[in-house]
Amino acid sequence: MFTTSGLRRGVRLASAFLIVCSPFVGSFLGLLATRMSLGRPVLTMRSRCDHCDSVLSIADLVPIVSWVGLRGKCRLCGGSIDPALPIIEVAALVVVLWSALVVPPALLWPSALLGWLLLALSMVDIKAFRLPDTLTCTLFATGLTLTWFAYPEQLPSHLMGAVLGFSALYAIGRLFRAVRGYDGLGLGDAKLLGASAAWISWEGLPSVLLVGATSALFWILLTRLAGRRWDRHRPIPFGPFLCLGIWLVWLYGPLTWGV
Ligand SMILES: [Zn+2]
Repeated sequence: MFTTSGLRRGVRLASAFLIVCSPFVGSFLGLLATRMSLGRPVLTMRSRCDHCDSVLSIADLVPIVSWVGLRGKCRLCGGSIDPALPIIEVAALVVVLWSALVVPPALLWPSALLGWLLLALSMVDIKAFRLPDTLTCTLFATGLTLTWFAYPEQLPSHLMGAVLGFSALYAIGRLFRAVRGYDGLGLGDAKLLGASAAWISWEGLPSVLLVGATSALFWILLTRLAGRRWDRHRPIPFGPFLCLGIWLVWLYGPLTWGV
C-alpha cells in the first residue's frame, strides 16, 4: 500500500538518481551530437580519439572527471579533446538542477528529457548547421506523449501549435528567399518550432521567437564587439537560440505584458 511519505521518498530517490545520471547522459549526448554532425552511425561504434583513432577506455569516459584529469588531452596522443564534450556534460546536469528548482517533482523527468533533447539539437546545429529530423521528431513525439497523458484536453491546441509554428517559419523562410535571393532560414528551424509546440502549445510560440531572435541578435552584437565580421556568407545557427526560447517558455511560461 502506498503512503504519502513513501511516495515522497520515492520521488526524492528518483530525483537523486536523475541528478547522478545526468552527466553520463550528457556524455552520451556529446557522442550522439558529434556523430550526427559528422554523419556517422550513432550506436554501432566504440568511442575513439578524434586524432589517433584509439579506442577510449572506461577511465577516459567518466563524465567531467576524465576531461579534468586528462587536462583536455588524449591520454595516448596528446591531441585536444573537443571542449564541447565536458560543456554538454555539465549542461546536462544544469538542466536537471534548474528543472528541480522550477517544475513540480512529477514533471522533473519530462523536463530533463526536453532539456537534453534541446542540448543535443543545439550542439549538432552549432557543429553542422543542421537540425536532424531524428531529434526533432523525438522532441515532437515525446511532447505529444506527455500532453496526451498529463493534459489530454490540451492536445488540440498543442497540435494546432505544431502546424502554426512550422507554417510561420516556413513562410518567413520562403519570403526571405523571394526578397533576398538566398536562404536565410533553414527548414530545420521551422520543424523545430513546430515540434516545440507539442510541449508548450501555440501560446508559447511568439515568446520562443522573440527570445530566439533577441538572443541571436545579442550574440551577433557581442561577437562583433569581439572583432568577428559577419556577412551573408557566414551563417549563424539559429537552432540554439530557438532552443533557449523553448526551454525558458517551458520553465516559466510565455512572456506576458504588464503585471
Ligand atoms: Zn589520441
